[in-house]
Amino acid sequence: MAKMIKKNYLLAPGPTPVPVDVLLEGAKDTIHHRTPQFKKIFEDAVNGTKEVFRTRNDLFILASSGTGAMEMAVANIVNPGEKLIVCSVGKFGERWVELAKTFGAEIVLVERDYGDFYTPEMVERALDENPDAVAVLTTLSETSTGTVMDIEGISKVVKKAGKLIAVDGISGLVAERLLTDDWGLDIVVSGSQKGFMLPPGLAFISFSKEAIEKSKNVSSTSFYFNLKKYLKDPIPWTPAVNLIYQQSLAVKMLLEEGMENVWARHELMGKATREAIKAMGLELFSKRPGNVLTSVKVPEGVDGGKIVSIMRDEYGVTIAGGQGSMKGNIFRIAHLGYMSDYDVIIALTSLEKVLRRLGFKVEYGTGARVAMEIFEKEGA
Ligand SMILES: *Cc1c(COP(=O)(O)O)cnc(C)c1O
Repeated sequence: MAKMIKKNYLLAPGPTPVPVDVLLEGAKDTIHHRTPQFKKIFEDAVNGTKEVFRTRNDLFILASSGTGAMEMAVANIVNPGEKLIVCSVGKFGERWVELAKTFGAEIVLVERDYGDFYTPEMVERALDENPDAVAVLTTLSETSTGTVMDIEGISKVVKKAGKLIAVDGISGLVAERLLTDDWGLDIVVSGSQKGFMLPPGLAFISFSKEAIEKSKNVSSTSFYFNLKKYLKDPIPWTPAVNLIYQQSLAVKMLLEEGMENVWARHELMGKATREAIKAMGLELFSKRPGNVLTSVKVPEGVDGGKIVSIMRDEYGVTIAGGQGSMKGNIFRIAHLGYMSDYDVIIALTSLEKVLRRLGFKVEYGTGARVAMEIFEKEGA
């Protein structure tokens, strides 16, 4: 009996796989950051990232994880006692709530259950009832449930009310179409280890003129993330030099692929995964599933924790379980960043293997066949 070697496949919604060329780029000599040589690389990284964001707004690269950019957003637009409309349908919406609390904002919550989504109408109602609110905090893709929000529609009602909108695009950006300038988004944040095909360690944040105007009247209580310092010098502290080499290359790769194709690729991977999951007799968890990841209900009688741990520890395939109250109830398969059709097939076939082992009846190839037929039909 032959035993397989274990190869590692990272199919979780962050960190995501990093292309070898990008890994190697990080191995280049670390240079001093106050040099014309580094300045050029930094500007390339900023300009490329702006194109991915579809913005001409100021964009800053932070040496932090994505949450640092969320903190910078809140810290610079709200004074203690001012009102924020915070939208939440999962763990990352709750992070906005915690941040708003941390900076002393009065919070108006637009909240729905995990798996559900909020709509432009719900946000409009909150705006009507709270004309003194200064901004609305939203999430493009709620990673804990795999749910995507209609940010374009929500932004329309926020702009009509003359307020600021901030979007957590940490997992959503790259995988989902997002047009910062065309949609009038005041603050957009993202992070390196999700769609950008980079290792963890960087966050990105863009500010519109209106957001910058508002920040001037905010006595920011953050030192590291104080926007005024970044406006004076976009590199206020030592940047993550080698990660920025990598970022410069990764955004170049995305732009060479073309954002329209990047979005279409994710859409197709998302569609193939969802259809395959349904064909396997499983149920989707999200009411508005997106193309970042697919969240799946753990079938009756199966131990959800075991699905994830056996796949990872024995098969080498890392997907994600549920977070918080979702633990054991759902699992999440990412199709995000440096992934392609065969990554989807690996996730589906290893899922079939573990489900069979845990007593769930599914024929080998059920999901893979449906996914391959969809890829073929779409010419992938
Ligand atoms: C991953 C993620 C975060 C947190 O990012 P960190 O890099 O872990 O700080 C926040 N929001 C969303 C939607 C995410 O997917």
